Amino acid sequence: MIDVMLLGTGAMTPLPGRWLSSALVRSEGSLVLLDCGEGTQVAMRERGWGFRRLDALCLSHLHADHVAGVPGLLHTVANAGRTSPLHIYGPAGTVDVIEGLRTIARDLPYEVRVRELASGDEIDGPGELRIRVAAGEHRVPVLGYRFGRSRAPKFDADRAREMGVPVKAWSVLQRGEDVEVAGRVFEPSMVIGEQRSGVALGFATDTRPTDTLRELISGVDLLIAEGTYGVDDDGDKAITHRHMTFRESAQLAAKAGVGHLWLTHFSASMLNPVDWRGNATDVFPHVTIGRAGLEGRLNFDTGYEEIQMKEECRGLSH
Ligand SMILES: [Zn+2]
Ligand SMILES: [Zn+2]
Repeated sequence: MIDVMLLGTGAMTPLPGRWLSSALVRSEGSLVLLDCGEGTQVAMRERGWGFRRLDALCLSHLHADHVAGVPGLLHTVANAGRTSPLHIYGPAGTVDVIEGLRTIARDLPYEVRVRELASGDEIDGPGELRIRVAAGEHRVPVLGYRFGRSRAPKFDADRAREMGVPVKAWSVLQRGEDVEVAGRVFEPSMVIGEQRSGVALGFATDTRPTDTLRELISGVDLLIAEGTYGVDDDGDKAITHRHMTFRESAQLAAKAGVGHLWLTHFSASMLNPVDWRGNATDVFPHVTIGRAGLEGRLNFDTGYEEIQMKEECRGLSH
């Protein structure tokens, strides 16, 4: 299972009532933040998922509206009591940018480990997440992300009992190791079923729709993608500034066979993004126009599910 929440939906500059575009992912209690523009830590605090368990920050690219909030966030994570390393991933240039930002956030009680990723890289992230990246197409290097969680194959308890495997040996077989009991060797294949599909989340912002990204996000349960412009007539602007319209994002989602699409990263000139939802649903039906606090869950059995916002649960939290 993966939980995900939108923290903000704005492009370029934070506005009253619209924080900059970013999202928080939670898996096995670990938090991963996707992008961190100015004010993102305030948006995080409003949502109450905490700071201390922030294990990784994944940066799409190095424009200010996606990274300028890093120094303040690092201080707040320190104040929340973190002592274990925090990982920052991003495209080429991330090491230099974080080093620069850290000149105003030097003394931290935990280590910041920065790693630049290249298109096609795949790494083990926190919370049993497998992270894969692919290059997008923007005015500077940009990465799209795929966060996948695999699911252990089903353990056939009835069969294990029939065969006389002691219960205390079950976990060894589940780990994929042989077990010897009273001279008899049991192999995992005797009691472990077929591989089961897991869940996956895609994140693609500040990019044109590309084939490389489409492959990266193929079949994800939920795609969080930019829709900088709602109106189809802004297609030329989208090409010039290397962004996507709602329709282009929805086309990308449809071609990639994703389960559901959240649109975010709205141009400041678009006051009511919901007004243009039809331009997306024209080509892909499962679209939610992003808003701060929009929350979803990717279930192993049922895929994407939207969580209704519980206003009473909001509040200050570390
Ligand atoms: Zn941006
Ligand atoms: Zn950008």
